[in-house]
Amino acid sequence: MTVRDLTILGCSSQQPTRFRNHGAYLLRWNNEGLLFDPGEGTQRQFIFANIAPTVVTRIFISHFHGDHCLGLGSVLMRLNLDNVEHQIHCYYPASGKKYFDRLRYGSIYHERIHVVEHPVSQAGLVEDDGRFRIEATFLEHGVENIGWRVTEADTRKFDLEKLQQYGVRGPLVTELQEKGSLIIQGKEVTLDQVSWIRHGDSFAVVIDTLPCQNAIDIAKGAALFLCESTYLEEHRQLALMHNHMTAKQAAIIAKEAGVKQLILTHFSARYQNLKAFEHEARAIFPNTFAADDLVTFPFPKINIKDVS
Ligand SMILES: [Zn+2]
Ligand SMILES: [Zn+2]
Repeated sequence: MTVRDLTILGCSSQQPTRFRNHGAYLLRWNNEGLLFDPGEGTQRQFIFANIAPTVVTRIFISHFHGDHCLGLGSVLMRLNLDNVEHQIHCYYPASGKKYFDRLRYGSIYHERIHVVEHPVSQAGLVEDDGRFRIEATFLEHGVENIGWRVTEADTRKFDLEKLQQYGVRGPLVTELQEKGSLIIQGKEVTLDQVSWIRHGDSFAVVIDTLPCQNAIDIAKGAALFLCESTYLEEHRQLALMHNHMTAKQAAIIAKEAGVKQLILTHFSARYQNLKAFEHEARAIFPNTFAADDLVTFPFPKINIKDVS
């Protein structure tokens, strides 16, 4: 069983506090490390979280406000220092290419890492490499800003009882998988009789936006949904003025999208107690948790046998 969890490396908004670093979110999933919005200080937060930065395989930048990207350069340089050999895919709004380049080449270093850039200029499917399907949508934040949805590949699961029942053993399992059907003791056994498809889970991220339909659409049915809630309802006007959301608005999106679990983040420095965010959101969407620096959330477990 591989690690499946979301580590909060920081959860502040524009201004970090003594207790909250600039945002950054690491999703460890199926032997990859997906890093979202590495704000300033992300490299050091990895150390506090006791996670090697070398796990990072993909980096997503929602937009180029500083709290979402100032850590990009130092994370890339750290991966360079650690001589990572795997490719590092970077996804970001194409309109911010000049900022990406500045961050990537912001200081002297001899680049050895293999960065694969994916500037995104259109909503929809960005990539499907057989491991993950990555989709993008544009949000409403006053600057070009992307919400992401990442879905793992479907996998075929064998039913051990059925395998025994149909006499499929040892190398026959692989042969059945390759051929789709086999004749065993004079009877045809098909792959679907002894196995089922587990549909891949989805993770959605919506950070820095006004409430909008695109935020609901990108999060539809996600198992885990990371969403900004910069303000509480008492400061709804401020949220509106700065193109952000309240905890209640994030919860409404989670409910309408039918996600399994909501994690709130990107808190304004004006708040000290994050429990108020959970409280406000749980009135609408009970399975809500407020992020906090260096907290890890396990990926929600799937219990249903999803047969197709
Ligand atoms: Zn922000
Ligand atoms: Zn922003």
